[in-house]
Amino acid sequence: MLYIGYHESTSGGFAAMAEEALSVNANTFAFFTRNPRGGKTKPIEKADAEKLYQMLEEHKFAPLVAHAPYTMNPCATDEGLREYAKNMMIENLAKTDIIPGCLYNFHPGCHVGQGAETGIKLTSELLAEVFAALPELKTTVLIETMAGKGTEIGKTFAEVRQIIDLTEQKLGKKLDDKLGVCMDTCHIWDGGYDIASNLDEVLKDFDKTIGLARLKAMHLNDSLNQCGAHKDRHAKIGEGNIGLNALVNVINHPLLQNLPFILETPNEHDGYKKEIELLRNAFKQ
Ligand code: FE
Ligand code: FE
Ligand code: ZN
Repeated sequence: MLYIGYHESTSGGFAAMAEEALSVNANTFAFFTRNPRGGKTKPIEKADAEKLYQMLEEHKFAPLVAHAPYTMNPCATDEGLREYAKNMMIENLAKTDIIPGCLYNFHPGCHVGQGAETGIKLTSELLAEVFAALPELKTTVLIETMAGKGTEIGKTFAEVRQIIDLTEQKLGKKLDDKLGVCMDTCHIWDGGYDIASNLDEVLKDFDKTIGLARLKAMHLNDSLNQCGAHKDRHAKIGEGNIGLNALVNVINHPLLQNLPFILETPNEHDGYKKEIELLRNAFKQ
């Protein structure tokens, strides 16, 4: 089964997002846990939540993929900013926990000159504190693979693995089903992983370094830049340098099937509808 969807606006509530997904033949969706322009997180209303649960079940949705706000930097230099990021993550997770099977992905952060090693350490400390604060957490937290733009950490599978390992060490326990990875095709391509020529090799590398069991969601994007450019500019499917063929191979890869695929391509409703149709037609099962 191809599970695919895109980022939707939370402004009309959760049932409205599921309805919007169904209207374009999507069976998952992503949403920001907080308005990107700031403001308080709205709580989920009970009636809205119940309608959402019913729709998710009836239409056999894959897990939804919530996205943390871009504004939080878990490895900021300033302690106050890290505290802010931690509290925001805890607040976000209280919200996603209301949705059964919800995934929550976040950008591991920018080390802003402190060096990747320090960045990795700070983000791991923050994650360990979040998990310690939420012993009953149901949501699975996903580290997004990054393009390595500026001082981003998480630009190699090895860095992502270090964040996982250090978090588990600091927390003093394994987080197998609570801490995973969201692989963004534009980001890993920009990070230097050539999924157009060597998808099998890249997945082998991921498996060896992190373990495919940790891979819980995909962001499916083409890239405006060359492999290894460390730029992070998304293109529509088939209109970038990764190309349609390679992205069709991604959705059809036996190791990736059944994961939720989230489009983060520069589109509006009609564009997403077309991309979903294109990819459904190219899906082989
Ligand atoms: Fe992201
Ligand atoms: Fe992404
Ligand atoms: Zn991106």
